[in-house]
Amino acid sequence: MAEGKKEFTVLIADDEKLNVELLSGILSPMYNLLISRNGARTLTLAREHNPDLILLDVLMPDMTGFDVISELKATDTTNKIPVIFITGLTSADDEEKGFFLGAVDYIIKPFNKSIVKARVNTHLKIVDQMRTIERIGLIDPLTKISNRRGFENRLHAEWGNAIREKHPISFLIMDIDKFKNYNDTYGHQQGDEALKAFAEVSAKSLLRSVDFAARWGGEEFVVLLPGTDIEGAADVAERIRANVEASVILTENRTETRITASIGVNSLIPDTDSTISDFIEKADQALYKAKETGRNRVVKHES
Ligand code: GH3
Ligand code: MG
Ligand code: MG
Repeated sequence: MAEGKKEFTVLIADDEKLNVELLSGILSPMYNLLISRNGARTLTLAREHNPDLILLDVLMPDMTGFDVISELKATDTTNKIPVIFITGLTSADDEEKGFFLGAVDYIIKPFNKSIVKARVNTHLKIVDQMRTIERIGLIDPLTKISNRRGFENRLHAEWGNAIREKHPISFLIMDIDKFKNYNDTYGHQQGDEALKAFAEVSAKSLLRSVDFAARWGGEEFVVLLPGTDIEGAADVAERIRANVEASVILTENRTETRITASIGVNSLIPDTDSTISDFIEKADQALYKAKETGRNRVVKHES
């Protein structure tokens, strides 16, 4: 980023003057700043200026940061702005709550200047990468995870790596069960909400940064697990299956709904004779078996 041409805007929301001054001191050389000293003003500034990132204090006089993030996430124009909590609340419960409500990070006061700087930089880098990926058309607009084309690019690259390094590569194909019924019961728009929830739960179930989830089309999703063997892949699949089953998806009038998914798993140490289409086909056969034997289950391809 060239000096004098600040690309990103960061909104700092904190009622304590000293914190605002410290954070401004750290961030103003690199970013445009917006400052708010209470919750209501934070919401107004977020809506009007669409900042690239928000640093949010939890304890503020008018509303808590938890309330503020809930409002931000419930509003279409602000729900994609990443939020980092900076707070004096140190309990694991509060931290968990912050992440549960959709924060990307949680920094505890008193903060270390270079850590704040590094974390803000990291999250803005991710924002930048996401925008690039969206611009070149590799993101599914509904679920905001990779689309099929993005996945195929990644698969080809990882397939080549696996051949060269003689490493296993695993593939999950996941299909929501009886999703036609879900749409018929709750409406297509709520169906879309369920797809979003499914994508989010799947992505959050992946623990390694190389793992990669995508929407394959309709109500089918896929995951690539480079360097993971069949047992590891089945564990990941089972974790996704269980997390999906345990998730409650609220409708607009706060009815609790649930979905389940069936998952086919395949794994291979590919060589130059292996083909990607056969690799995927076998996972698809396993998925078919999962459907046939009762749904809401994981089936491995037996090689
Ligand atoms: P199964 O357990 O055998 O997979 O049953 P299913 O009902 O999920 O399978 P089927 O393939 O018959 O139906 C898939 C449904 O997924 C039909 C379609 O309306 C729904 N669907 C596909 N894409 C979307 C979408 O983008 N949004 C919504 N809301 N529904 C979708
Ligand atoms: Mg299907
Ligand atoms: Mg289905």
